[in-house]
Amino acid sequence: MGNAVPTVQNTAVPRSPILDYLDSLRARFQDLTDGQVADYIPELAHANPDWFGICIATPDGFVYEVGDSRQPFTIQSISKPLTYGLALEENGEDTVLAKIGVEPSGDAFNAISLRPQTGAPLNPLINAGAIAACGLIAGETIEQKTARILDAFSRYAGRALDIDERVYDSESATGHRNRAIGWMLRNFAILTDEPAPTLETYFRQCSIRVTCRDLALMGATLANGGVNPVTGTRAIAEAYVDNVLSVMATCGMYDFSGEWLYQTGLPAKSGVGGGILAVQPGRIGIGVFSPRLDAQGNSVRGIAVCRALAADLGLHLFDASQRAVPAVRLATTRRKVASKQRRSPVAAEHLRRVGKRLRLYHLQGALAFASIEPVVRELMERAGGTDCFVVNLRMVQAIDDAAARLLAGARKELLRLGKALVFAEAGAWWQRLIDVGVDREAIFADDDFALEYGENLLLAQRFQGEAWDAKVPLEQCALFAGFTTDELALLEGLLACRTYRKGQTIIAAGQTSDELFVITHGAAMVTISTHDGIARLDAFASGMTFGEMAFIDRSPRSANVSALSEVECRVLTREAFAQLDHEAPAIKIRLLQNLARGMSAMLRQANRELAALK
Ligand code: GLN
Repeated sequence: MGNAVPTVQNTAVPRSPILDYLDSLRARFQDLTDGQVADYIPELAHANPDWFGICIATPDGFVYEVGDSRQPFTIQSISKPLTYGLALEENGEDTVLAKIGVEPSGDAFNAISLRPQTGAPLNPLINAGAIAACGLIAGETIEQKTARILDAFSRYAGRALDIDERVYDSESATGHRNRAIGWMLRNFAILTDEPAPTLETYFRQCSIRVTCRDLALMGATLANGGVNPVTGTRAIAEAYVDNVLSVMATCGMYDFSGEWLYQTGLPAKSGVGGGILAVQPGRIGIGVFSPRLDAQGNSVRGIAVCRALAADLGLHLFDASQRAVPAVRLATTRRKVASKQRRSPVAAEHLRRVGKRLRLYHLQGALAFASIEPVVRELMERAGGTDCFVVNLRMVQAIDDAAARLLAGARKELLRLGKALVFAEAGAWWQRLIDVGVDREAIFADDDFALEYGENLLLAQRFQGEAWDAKVPLEQCALFAGFTTDELALLEGLLACRTYRKGQTIIAAGQTSDELFVITHGAAMVTISTHDGIARLDAFASGMTFGEMAFIDRSPRSANVSALSEVECRVLTREAFAQLDHEAPAIKIRLLQNLARGMSAMLRQANRELAALK
């Protein structure tokens, strides 16, 4: 007996290995008690030095938290990149860049690092730059400015934040150095009004109370392009997210920023309250909280945890193993995959011969320059031997502007060369394609219709204007192949003749039926209803047989058949078919052979397509 089969029903709630891992980090760094709790703002000295929380949040809003992840503390300098983002949103990039640089200073957070000529602070994450950013926030009074900041931060966190008044009072009472910086900024007209309201706003912004969990969600909001993944509320315009993350990457950890980026490869920001917020753009937000600080004012355990996370989870942004997934999931031609439109024998033969000139690609993943470049290269290299490309986007998760423009550019070039590039299953990317100039007519619901378009192009080159669904005499119909003139005459007498108007239903799904159809003129299609409309299963032209499945196995009709044009059919009833048993068994045998041949041809084609699409 195998012992791997559990015999007892275990009802314990499973614990994620990710939480176990975060617990193991806490255990690993619990004894790291280097550093001191900040006391230059007297109220901060009351923090418990042993507090230790770790939290990570995903861009779809799932939170893993261990330890003191809900212990409130003041945000301090982690406020700086967020207020900088708000200043960018309110004033635009040019105005903000004119007043605040984006160069790492390599100086301490409270250094008076101003450019000698202009007095512009080197970057927005040292105090000078952060106070300047505060000066750019709209509002006449401290209350108005603070309200805007508090509102923005609350949107990042996904809950209403408040201010720790004791910390604010404490910092305001002792913040003389920051006041000196404020007056310097006023001297250089970086601050254009009295510095006091701006400084008090800055002190209040630093005293906003957060938890480690809030920091992780703020990080996830940045990772998610500015929208809080839990509430769905936008905290910052997507256009400024990369600006915020850039300054975090280069200046977020004060005079430790270079070494930090080297080790973790993550944009981050620390505060003297003991918090660190780190972001892996597009992927996760991290919050760590532990109040003991090193000489630079960064949380000692916070740094250790982030370094371990980056190494263990492979988060370093410059890690070259994070290569793009190949965008081409499937590349094939009309030789292997055809539209459902069935063609007259001549047309079908022509398509078989030139099938290579119609190519089908299925793309996947997030399309950006690196992943779309090989696709564009393939299209250009194949252009000579191809008349139509079909690009299916069903498995595509994202298309950025560059990738959309390159696809549209490739299409334009192919059109110039007299070739076609059409899309199938564009789904969510439909508007994006339209926006970069792709015609609506070039976007098809599925491969079937896109391939049919391509096949029609191939046929039009060969049969200019020639009708390839013209009336077909009985002897050219697949079901009647190989019969003598006498046999055909006898059959003719057995068959009913029916005509249908364009659009008329010939067969309805669910019906029971005892009839077999041969289409002698016109075209018809087979459809089923799906959850999002109608899917075409097959299409028939003159000379083809349909309805044979239910005719043979006597099950109800599985699909609808409707006339695509004026249609003429010959109908063989079960009664007439049975009559042949005695009257002309040889004819019956040949009919069965022809039916079997037709069905095995369909099965072969289905197998070919399944193999090609795998
Ligand atoms: N409010 C603090 C100050 O200006 C923020 C400093 C920090 O977190 N590094 O001194």
